[in-house]
Amino acid sequence: MTIKEYVAARKAALKEEIASLPKVPTLSIITVGHNPASEAYVRGKKKDAAEIGINAVQTLFEENIAEEELLSFIRKQNDDPAIDGIIVQLPVPKHISVEKINLTVSPAKDVDGFTALSQFDPCTPKGIINYLTAEGFPFRGKNAVVLGRSEIVGKPMARLLLERDCNVVQLHSKTTEEDKRFYMKHADLIVSAIGRMFLWDASYEFKPTAYLVDVGINRGEDGHLHGDFVPNLPVALQTPVPGGVGLLTRLALLENLMEAVRKEK
Ligand code: NAD
Repeated sequence: MTIKEYVAARKAALKEEIASLPKVPTLSIITVGHNPASEAYVRGKKKDAAEIGINAVQTLFEENIAEEELLSFIRKQNDDPAIDGIIVQLPVPKHISVEKINLTVSPAKDVDGFTALSQFDPCTPKGIINYLTAEGFPFRGKNAVVLGRSEIVGKPMARLLLERDCNVVQLHSKTTEEDKRFYMKHADLIVSAIGRMFLWDASYEFKPTAYLVDVGINRGEDGHLHGDFVPNLPVALQTPVPGGVGLLTRLALLENLMEAVRKEK
């Protein structure tokens, strides 16, 4: 199944589930200031939510809001039973601590899954795991290479693969070129979350049965988005960019929100 087909099927299933609920699930999206990229992401999240019957409510604060005012608004939303999930769109202005925001959002409502205490997995790795599961990837005992070690993608990706009994190797900017080639050559699954266009090209050796998951989003000189891998490598599965992991990440937010709703029942 292509990622587009998978996402459409999951959305249809979630929509049906939501239609049978006694109350409309509500996602609170908090934004501070007017960042054009953030505004585009929020529009996408609201559209996704509306498509399946989730009520997404955006609260927009001006750039100069005091940190305490924002935190106290989050606390109120934590206590509001009408709200199932809360996301605070990053970045926020420098005078506001992201750490304090993360510590304030209730772990039961942190559907972005950004903190260790959150009851949810972060959306990008979660979306990838769900898709690989649907594709029948046999995690147990398989060699998985995760390239990148960020808090929101690389590290939780490695953790989720380890939880599914993969043999996980995490590579990063200090890994030697020789080692990268060695580990990738033996990998059954490679997840690249680096953000450097076409870093992995046909000069790297991959197993013909390998699954390549491309998290990277890089804007090329052609004005288009490209991945960390060159397209069309001779492997079993390679996720496209665009139209790949980005869609899975968006879907995972909806999945997390629905998990929150189910837990409340
Ligand atoms: P980041 O930018 O915080 O860190 C990049 C990581 O890559 C670091 O851990 C670094 O050690 C590693 N790295 C850099 N150069 C390397 C090299 N030559 N070899 C091996 N490792 C190297 O990471 P991030 O926030 O996880 O983002 C990574 C990419 O994924 C970016 O392109 C970002 O836009 C994209 N992204 C996409 C989605 C999505 O939904 N599709 C979500 C999050 C991030």
